[in-house]
Amino acid sequence: MHAHPPPQPPEWASQGLHFHALSHFLRRRFGRRVWKISVDAGLSCPNLDGTLATEGCIFCDMRSFSPSRRQGAAGRSITKQIAEGVSHLGRRHGDSADTFIAYFQPATNTYGPIDRLLPLWRESLAYSGMVGLIVGTRPDCVSDQALDALAGLATDTWVSVELGLQSIHQHSLDWLRRAHDFSCFEDAVVRARSRGLHVGAHLMLGLPGETRDEMLETAKQMARLQVDSVKLHNLYVVRDTPLAALWERGDFRLPDRDEYVQILVDFLEYLPPECVIDRIAGDAPPQFLLAPEWCQHKAALRRSVDQEFRRRGTRQGSRWHPPH
Ligand code: SF4
Repeated sequence: MHAHPPPQPPEWASQGLHFHALSHFLRRRFGRRVWKISVDAGLSCPNLDGTLATEGCIFCDMRSFSPSRRQGAAGRSITKQIAEGVSHLGRRHGDSADTFIAYFQPATNTYGPIDRLLPLWRESLAYSGMVGLIVGTRPDCVSDQALDALAGLATDTWVSVELGLQSIHQHSLDWLRRAHDFSCFEDAVVRARSRGLHVGAHLMLGLPGETRDEMLETAKQMARLQVDSVKLHNLYVVRDTPLAALWERGDFRLPDRDEYVQILVDFLEYLPPECVIDRIAGDAPPQFLLAPEWCQHKAALRRSVDQEFRRRGTRQGSRWHPPH
């Protein structure tokens, strides 16, 4: 019996990283720093408009997704929104901010007729310096027609479909009032990947009632489905949401920062090394955030995560096994 040679360390590990950060992936993909610009297409969501429900997910507050965009997005064209985003970046970063990805973020961005959606996506890609497109949506709202249109755009640009899942576990999906199951996510991933699209998943760690093993099972399923990137959020409470009412009643507790770091590092160890990590915690604007306070201190969280990987002597993928 021959021993297998030890696997080659991933390229990003040679840069001193403990996980495959999105910024690193984009820099390698495009050869320079790339900025995401959020745009609001003014679309709705079947979990809000009465098609599935009217109250939305327990944590949903559309204002908090991108307040400067949503408030008054109505009537502002995609081009105008991007121009404002670019000028905001220019004030902070000068002329170096010249390469962008349009991020269709609030609500459900494949929820509408294709002859309404496609012109919006095309308009964003026509903006000078735009090199890609991310379309955030629900996994039960991804028609073949929308995927075909995105695959058409992907022949000469980078296109990612970002699917909100949060958890693979039905009891968590029910608690969050997502009004979809895991199987529609599996189906959407397979159909998007078969068209060559980059597929991202939004996931939440630290949901009340979810055990560590259940959270790690979510990581294993992302690995099995070969999801290209994950955006990880801690559960955070935004003012004036149904979740805020439960929080104020003391119905659940949130992990403290150290608990979150432990589960996050465990989770990353179970993901394949090539999976891109879009984010490691939530980022509601401070004026809307009720709890936890620690998730506002991103740099401190990142330091703790790196420190924990160093302490364990591991990195993303350390506990992942390639399929046979
Ligand atoms: S799917 Fe998204 S937009 Fe719709 S209710 Fe849930 S969080 Fe809000």
